[in-house]
Amino acid sequence: MKILLIFGTRPEAIKLFPVARALAETPGVDPLICVTAQHRGLLDQVLAIAGLTPDVDLDLMEPGQTLDRLTARLLTGLGEAMDRLKPDRVIVQGDTATAMTGALAAYYRRIPVAHVEAGLRSGNIYHPWPEEVNRRIVAPIADLHFAPTATAAEALARENITAGVHVTGNTVIDALQWTSARIAADPALATGLDPIAARFAGKKIVLVTTHRRENFGDGMANIANAIARIAAHDDVAVLFPMHPNPNVGAVMDAILGDRPNVARIDPLDYPHFIRALGLCHLALSDSGGVQEEAPALGKPVLVMRDTTERPEGIAAGTARLVGADADRIVSEVFTLINDKAAYAAMARAHNPFGDGQAASRIARVIAGG
Ligand code: UDP
Repeated sequence: MKILLIFGTRPEAIKLFPVARALAETPGVDPLICVTAQHRGLLDQVLAIAGLTPDVDLDLMEPGQTLDRLTARLLTGLGEAMDRLKPDRVIVQGDTATAMTGALAAYYRRIPVAHVEAGLRSGNIYHPWPEEVNRRIVAPIADLHFAPTATAAEALARENITAGVHVTGNTVIDALQWTSARIAADPALATGLDPIAARFAGKKIVLVTTHRRENFGDGMANIANAIARIAAHDDVAVLFPMHPNPNVGAVMDAILGDRPNVARIDPLDYPHFIRALGLCHLALSDSGGVQEEAPALGKPVLVMRDTTERPEGIAAGTARLVGADADRIVSEVFTLINDKAAYAAMARAHNPFGDGQAASRIARVIAGG
């Protein structure tokens, strides 16, 4: 049985490499990989760490391409790849343009689709934009829905999708555990952060990531101002692996510039990012994946968004929505830095997102076991 895994961005690669590895160990299954390279550099970092070589690489990234153009190129490119590879099933992950067009191209060929990380909903089609609609388009096409949590399965049920739904846990926890074990066996995988760890020794490190389209513009300027105010405190430092999107860098250059307490660095490969999560006191992020990983490592995460499709972290008390509002961000960061009880309440290492066995559950279902 030929199973075609399709992905194009860093988070999809992180969340699908455990599935590719589990399928490769499943008798009777021949996993194939097609990457769209929607994010070229960030994707390649994950492929290298995970030891995956794509069977097809569409290499579709172009600087500044519109969503229309990206979508059109993905749809035709993925359709052609399917015509060539003739898979028995396609697997897509999450909510990207790659996932949406991969599902649609498979549907046009009547190839069954499995959706990993199914059932995430914010309820607002502009937050996150365009991801909320991307994932909703995949749902009626897929015949297998791998929901990471019971909450996600309930969201699917509200859309009358109950057949083929399996609650598996989120594969990001598999990726985190696998990579953490690799770092434990070979610490050299993450020593690139040693100079920053030494430079910020004794300070409480706030790890920042931001890349959501809906924060581009005013939101990004607010985030930059908040970082400047946080880093004005001597006992705090900001570690900020910056997404390569120019909408992030230009604002940060203009507002933040160079500051002694802020390390603005290139995106980290996955082992180094896990090390950064380990070093930090808290994470300040608009990322989806970081909302799942930080609680698994006992780190509070302040989410710079107004809504989240991951309410489990909010319910568990490990994550809090702070929007892209400078005053709110600064005040919540300093509450966690100064108030030990507030910090302890959020830092409970309770992880509602999975147990690290999601990929093997998914492989069993795919293989029909
Ligand atoms: N990540 C990484 N290096 C970085 C920043 C993030 O490897 O410098 C990882 C992080 O661990 C998480 C994923 O990238 O698994 C999140 O990706 P992103 O924030 O781009 O997308 P989202 O999760 O919001 O879809």
